[in-house]
Amino acid sequence: MKTCVFCGSNVKISKEHVWSSCLLKKRKGNNKYTSNSVADKFVGPNSLQVKDVCEKCNNDNLSELDSYICQLYDSQINNVIEVNDKILFEYDFSLLSRWLFKTLYNNARSGNADKYFIALLNTFNQYILNGTNNPTAFLVFLQLIIPYEEGNTKIPPTYMTAGTINIPKLNVEDVYTFVVCIDSFRFFIVVPRLNAEINISELEELFSQLPATKASVRLKDSIDKQLISASEITTLYAVGPLIMNDLCLWSKLIDKR
Ligand SMILES: [Zn+2]
Repeated sequence: MKTCVFCGSNVKISKEHVWSSCLLKKRKGNNKYTSNSVADKFVGPNSLQVKDVCEKCNNDNLSELDSYICQLYDSQINNVIEVNDKILFEYDFSLLSRWLFKTLYNNARSGNADKYFIALLNTFNQYILNGTNNPTAFLVFLQLIIPYEEGNTKIPPTYMTAGTINIPKLNVEDVYTFVVCIDSFRFFIVVPRLNAEINISELEELFSQLPATKASVRLKDSIDKQLISASEITTLYAVGPLIMNDLCLWSKLIDKR
């Protein structure tokens, strides 16, 4: 009998979607999504599932997180951000960060993620489930990405992706970096490495300036809203390598040149 990865019990195991199923149903955007734990490719809505979560965790604690992200989708994320837009992003830090970790953890287990990352994300399982036993002072940043435009071609950011991310010029001896992107909303999750001494205000400053994370704002856990301006990062930069896999869309772009 299988053990639930969240509560450790040996009760009935159910299937859980990596991405909350409401996002798969509600989003008007591209309904294929990507995961860098399954080789940076587009996969269909039912492809990414895990089968090691018990019915109770799935239906109680985890579904509370799914309900939250659905509300957040309806109230905020369901907007394409355009150049120069500014939004007041309202959030519940605990629910949002727990949902982000749940998605990263599920995503890692669904594919070919490095076992090390699965183990690292596993240390958050009680935090995901109950909001308790947070293993480390992690940080969450939000960056708003804009459509890629060239001539008459416009590719809005209508993709979802999750996994680890390399952020050039960031000292990776200090931190692990993950990304969860839903359409225009690109969340970076930064987890300090064991014994690394992190200067949070320096890291905030760095994140707002590095080319990849430019204009991202830290979502602090002590407040519930932040004013965030659109970055200059376009769909092509943020998910370009993945779009290239979507040959149909890519060749349309090339044709119009
Ligand atoms: Zn369980």
